[in-house]
Amino acid sequence: MMVIVNFQVFIISKEDCLPYSRPPMSKHMWWNADPPEMKKLNYVEQLKRKTMYYADCQSFMDPIKFYRKKTGPALSVATGWCVLRVDADDHVAWIKTMCGEQPMYYERCLIAVGELKGSLVKLCMLTNTDGAKPKNLNIFKSAPKFVRERVQTLRTVRDLELAYRKVKAAKHVVILGGGFLGSELSWYLGRMKKEVDHHGEQKEESIEFVQMLKDKGILAGILPEYLSEWAAEKIKCEGVTIMPKTQIYDAFKSADGRLELTLSNGSSLVTDYVLVAMGTQPREELAEQSFLELDSVNGGFLVNTELEARTHLYVAGDAASLYSQWKDTRLRMEHYGNAQEQGYVAGANMTGYWVPSNMEPHFCFRLGDSLDVEGVGEVGACMPTVALFKPCADDSKPQASGDGQGDMPCFKKADEYKNRYKRGMVFYLRDETIVGLVFWNLPPVDDRYEVATEILRARPSYKDINLIAELFGFPETKCDYLNEAEMVEPGPCLKK
Ligand SMILES: Cc1cc2nc3c(=O)[nH]c(=O)nc-3n(C[C@H](O)[C@H](O)[C@H](O)COP(=O)(O)OP(=O)(O)OC[C@H]3O[C@@H](n4cnc5c(N)ncnc54)[C@H](O)[C@@H]3O)c2cc1C
Repeated sequence: MMVIVNFQVFIISKEDCLPYSRPPMSKHMWWNADPPEMKKLNYVEQLKRKTMYYADCQSFMDPIKFYRKKTGPALSVATGWCVLRVDADDHVAWIKTMCGEQPMYYERCLIAVGELKGSLVKLCMLTNTDGAKPKNLNIFKSAPKFVRERVQTLRTVRDLELAYRKVKAAKHVVILGGGFLGSELSWYLGRMKKEVDHHGEQKEESIEFVQMLKDKGILAGILPEYLSEWAAEKIKCEGVTIMPKTQIYDAFKSADGRLELTLSNGSSLVTDYVLVAMGTQPREELAEQSFLELDSVNGGFLVNTELEARTHLYVAGDAASLYSQWKDTRLRMEHYGNAQEQGYVAGANMTGYWVPSNMEPHFCFRLGDSLDVEGVGEVGACMPTVALFKPCADDSKPQASGDGQGDMPCFKKADEYKNRYKRGMVFYLRDETIVGLVFWNLPPVDDRYEVATEILRARPSYKDINLIAELFGFPETKCDYLNEAEMVEPGPCLKK
């Protein structure tokens, strides 16, 4: 193994700002009193001031000078440059800059984002050159300008800047989608409405928020229906109106100059603004231009377990469809933690190590202090599940303030339903083997993901549920299984 210890890293980003972390855009950034300030991108979380930017440093060496110099700083960032294609045969990335199209030689190239550790003589790192683009409804894409101006997806900080101003100026906002992004947005926007002023009094703003779901509840692709519905109540508790099983069929200008939506239930809804949160689709243009192979099932660039698409060309993050040797299948993960971990793996491999990417899919979903969900492994609403919930009637965790300000009272049947699924674990099964775990509102534990990964790797059977539950803090919960003799149904003639 030859490890490279002396290298320069060059990050190229299409966006006009330094690399930043996206998750706060659907969360605490909305609680700021003003629109995002590009220089700082600050927000407050748990009474601590934080920034979305990864780098403390605000200025790097001029990218052109950096590229031409053989010695000097180890890192530079070129913002506002777009990678058009990568020629893997000649190790050249073609970049569009203000001065036109330029070739750039690389020794190792990463199409993604990631913090690199290690070294290389000259290394070119492209910030997720393909990443993903947000999905939108065709009716919005082909709609007249009036409609398009009132519909927005949320992927970059520039989208956030625009959406923040429009939402604050609106009286009625629709959030379309019940996935991670749509649900977090709805919860945080609902909570934002109940702003507490300096004297501790509640000051109601007059924005009405509606979350429109295709299914009965939120995260319907992952959670069993009863949990998905239960979790949607948490958003309702923040005063957001939930419209389950509803889709938009048409959008046009209403008689009073607002946006009118024709809905699948036959009614129509007049609103000021629609935030579309329907997930993302991988950008495939760069793959075609660069003659890189795409995964026709999951989307994304095909890479091996070391995240390599071609010799010395790596892909990580949302854009990568990697081969998992443990699962003998391809995985494309669109979660922050996975993108970060893949960045480490690709970085190590680019600098001479041979590290396989054997991570389990991992997500965290947080509705402030109301709900904290962590998922590890294969999880899907269509899979058989076994769930254990702790009996807990007490409010040991702070709950959402204010109840039921949407169109329906929050929590269908008062406390019994509210407490029914308060804390628990969900086990996802495939052929009697546990392949995924969801930790439902359990107190955070630092190494839970690592422990869960090890457990899943051992391919536990459903009979191990008691043992695993106990390990994760369910000593009092018991699942009783019948042995084979007990499972034989006694027919009438067997009776003694
Ligand atoms: C609002 C929001 C909230 C989220 N919240 C969570 C969360 O709570 N938890 C979670 O796990 N995940 C969350 N995610 C998803 C998470 O942010 C992504 O999984 C993660 O950012 C993926 O990282 P990435 O590096 O693959 O791509 P990205 O973060 O998408 O980065 C892609 C970058 O590459 C640039 N680029 C694209 N094409 C080119 C080109 N041709 N040339 C140069 N540059 C280019 C883009 O402009 C962008 O800057 C959220 C995403 C969004 C949008």
